[in-house]
Formats: sequence, C-alpha cells, structure tokens
Amino acid sequence: MGRTIIGKVRDGVWQLNEENYVDSWLVTGSNEAVLINSLQYNTDLYDRIRSITDLPLNVLLTHGHGDHAGRSLEVFAHHDVPVYMDPADGFLTGGLSFHPLHEGDLFDLGDTVLETISCRGHTPGSAVFLDREREYLFSGDSVGSGGFWLQLPHSLPLASFREELIKLMKITENMKDLRIYPGHRYQSPVQLNRQYLNDELDLINDLINGKETNKTDVMTAVGQEIVFARAHRGLLLDFLYDPEKLV
Ligand SMILES: [Zn+2]
Repeated sequence: MGRTIIGKVRDGVWQLNEENYVDSWLVTGSNEAVLINSLQYNTDLYDRIRSITDLPLNVLLTHGHGDHAGRSLEVFAHHDVPVYMDPADGFLTGGLSFHPLHEGDLFDLGDTVLETISCRGHTPGSAVFLDREREYLFSGDSVGSGGFWLQLPHSLPLASFREELIKLMKITENMKDLRIYPGHRYQSPVQLNRQYLNDELDLINDLINGKETNKTDVMTAVGQEIVFARAHRGLLLDFLYDPEKLV
C-alpha cells in the first residue's frame, strides 16, 4: 500500500499525496464531495476520506493512467461510489466500468460547482475540473505539473493539444488568481498559475513553428521504447514530446 499523507490546503480542499509522487484532491461542498483521481497503490483511500466527510461522494478521473486511476477504485465501486472518466481513456484501465464523463458536465457540491473541460493531449480522454467561483483548476496530468509528458504513444499531436490549451486559456482568461492543482505537485515547487499556461503555449508554438528544435533521445515507458525530445520554458521545467508528432 502506498503511504498517503492528507493535508487541508484551502477551505473544502484536501491534498492526498502518495509517496511524495502523486496527488489526488478531495473537494467538499455543503451537500456533496468529489475525489479527483484515486492515487496508485493506496487501498484505504475510501476509509481515509470517510474519516473526513460523510457527504455523498463521486470520484472524478482526469485520465486513465494507473498512477491516478489506481487500486482504490475497486473499493469505491464496492461502496457504490460512482466513478467518472472520459470513455476515450477506457483502453488504459482494463475492464473497470465508469460513468461516462463529457465536456460541460457539472458537479454541483452545494456551494461549489466543478465544471468538466476536456483537455486532450497527454491521453485521448484527458480532462480538467474548474471551480469558476474560486478560480481553482484541478488538472491531473492534462497540462502537466511543471513536468509534462506528451511523448507517449497514445498522446495526441502537439497541435491537437495546443487547441485544447488555447480553449482552456480562453475559458479562464479573466481568472487572474487561477490556481492549478495538478497530479504531481512534487514536480512543481511553485504554485502553478496562469503564467504556467502561458509558458506552455509559448513553447509549443515555437516547437510547431520550428523556432525551437531539440535533440532526440530514447526512453522505455508503457512497455515500449519511445523516441522523444526534451524542452523547457519558464515554469514548465521539463517537457517531453514526440518530435515526429508536432501536427
Ligand atoms: Zn498521466
């Protein structure tokens, strides 16, 4: 089981950190609560959450990777807690059943509403959850966590992700105090904010336009050898992408 530390970071927002590696977020309202992602190895997450809140609960997944859609999902299913995920990521999770998640789906917790925004790129079904009122964005790996993986075989081309990023930036353009709560806070020693999204778009534009090129390297991930290149810009400290999949 993964050792998990839970800390309250804001009114109604808890960070659940496993092994200083991956984060989930619990958001509570006056009537309901949601858990955003379910860590990797932890199996007592349901009990830990029930020690914080008795509110009706939904689990929302930003995507289907095993470090965010982990072992505790079976426990939540056993307790009849609905789990939502974009069906486009179903191929990543091997047999678990989900409630389909779509862009625009609203989760009304009472005094807090979370809005689903598709943000496909890291995986074909990646999504983020936006609290417009408080300007909080729960993003999993969808925009990265200071580090960002877009080099995976099932990641979308850079230009496709760029459209999603521009859409997200338009939706949040008046949110001066936007706070990003990503899937791996250890990668982001500073609070990620609008500047992070600006830096990401800036870099991706330069890569697509050929203003920046980087040498390629090879890594093993998801059971195969992957050719990738590495870049960084501002708050985006480490960006891995496939130089053959710019558009
Ligand atoms: Zn991921």
